[in-house]
Amino acid sequence: PCKGSLIVVSNRLPFVLVRNEETQSLSRKASAGGLVTAVAPVVIRGNGLWVGWPGIQLTSEEEPIPESDPSDQTPTAGLKSSQVVSVNLDPKIFDSYYNGCCNKTFWPLFHSMPGRATFSSDHWKNYVTVNKHFAKRTIEALEKHHKNNKSNGTPIVWIHDYHLMLASNWVREQAEERKLECRMAFFLHIPFPPWDIFRLFPWSDEILQGMLGCDMVGFHIQDYCLNFVDCCQRNLGCRVDRNNLLVEHGGRTVRVRPLPIGIPYDRFVHLAETAEKVLKTSKMKIVLGVDRLDYTKGLVNRLQAFESLLVKYPEHRGKVSLLQISVPSRTDVKEYRELKEEVDQLVGRINGRFTTANWAPIRYIYDYVGQAELAALYRDAAVCLVTPLRDGMNLVAKEFVACQINKVPGVLVISPFAGAGEMMHEALQCNPYEIDDAAEVIHRALTMPEDERILRMSRLRSREQECDVNHWMRTFMKAMGTVEFDDIGTT
Ligand code: UDP
Repeated sequence: PCKGSLIVVSNRLPFVLVRNEETQSLSRKASAGGLVTAVAPVVIRGNGLWVGWPGIQLTSEEEPIPESDPSDQTPTAGLKSSQVVSVNLDPKIFDSYYNGCCNKTFWPLFHSMPGRATFSSDHWKNYVTVNKHFAKRTIEALEKHHKNNKSNGTPIVWIHDYHLMLASNWVREQAEERKLECRMAFFLHIPFPPWDIFRLFPWSDEILQGMLGCDMVGFHIQDYCLNFVDCCQRNLGCRVDRNNLLVEHGGRTVRVRPLPIGIPYDRFVHLAETAEKVLKTSKMKIVLGVDRLDYTKGLVNRLQAFESLLVKYPEHRGKVSLLQISVPSRTDVKEYRELKEEVDQLVGRINGRFTTANWAPIRYIYDYVGQAELAALYRDAAVCLVTPLRDGMNLVAKEFVACQINKVPGVLVISPFAGAGEMMHEALQCNPYEIDDAAEVIHRALTMPEDERILRMSRLRSREQECDVNHWMRTFMKAMGTVEFDDIGTT
């Protein structure tokens, strides 16, 4: 069993800091994401640490982190400032690492959209610099942890996501040199692409070596694990075991594990039970879409599919509306600004084509919507469209399912290119590239008999209830619990 504390390393801390312009004092602004909800309590309970960027420029890394506000009820409220190690970065370097290498290179490439990826040695150089710096701060965190927790077992350093794929080896080397015992894990929150896409990245070997510095590497689904194992074998010539998902590297055996993340299921059920109605008329059927405005989410295809539905099945006109929530995202990046233009125009054109005095086909919200309001919309929508072109997991699909508390539930339509699509067999599958077929699937969802809806939804719900975010956290801790590896077996 694993007793050690958790040292989480992520690009962002589980809260952002805000500086008061007048007094220059700092305060925390909490984050409510599912990941933070599950991980923060484990860090707090085990007296662990969290290493990350606080969202603003600090005067120095020594600048004290404020304690949480007494009124703060969020899961990170119990995280003491002594448990936080901030990473302060030069804004220019940060921009090149974050907007450049992370968002313009890794994001499109790992989502199998290499045409959108840019490859810049300058961005890569800054990515290396930032990862080194995170490693340095992680070592400082480890030192602090060993000083304060002499008999608390071996700590687990858990590095998150595509921002920090290189950090582990520097942490490992330094930890060994300074005799700071630890075990290390990495989790990737986005897809891991197939080898023929991954190899396009000029420094792909370094990425694999970086990830293999950990004892365990986790992905959402089996396919991403297999892609990774494949890349290790073909790029680096590692000995691998595909059945047991093991990779030999540098005299160590690294475990690769599918760990599909879940949502805080009970929280969403509770929100759905208590949230006030947002949709005022119950006569209009709502087809709901909830996405960050990102080209991976397939928004243009979805709008075209909805248009095709209105052409093929005019009986839905006046009775069905698509409510699309698009959260502004990465507005510093040109592609995202261009996508916004494209979506704005398409929504305008479709609305112009079909709107009557009493009905508009698309209601388009370009804004962030709070989770209580979101829960009400999930609950009362007839259909939810989760149709990304590619998505690591997709939590919206799971949240929609959790919020289906009405006696006669709605219908989930999901793309097979979302990680969530792999397990949610009872949802209607929809290939977002096939516009006309997508229109057929939406029609089928809108006209599905009640008993079929109930049957499908109850199965979807029990799976999400069981495999919620706490289950994910427990499975991770369990996967780290044994250090002995089986013999590597067949290659
Ligand atoms: N979300 C939100 N308000 C919005 C839209 C989305 O709080 O207006 C949340 C949503 O509840 C979900 C997350 O943002 O938890 C989106 O996660 P997902 O995995 O679907 O996509 P990502 O944005 O991480 O690619």
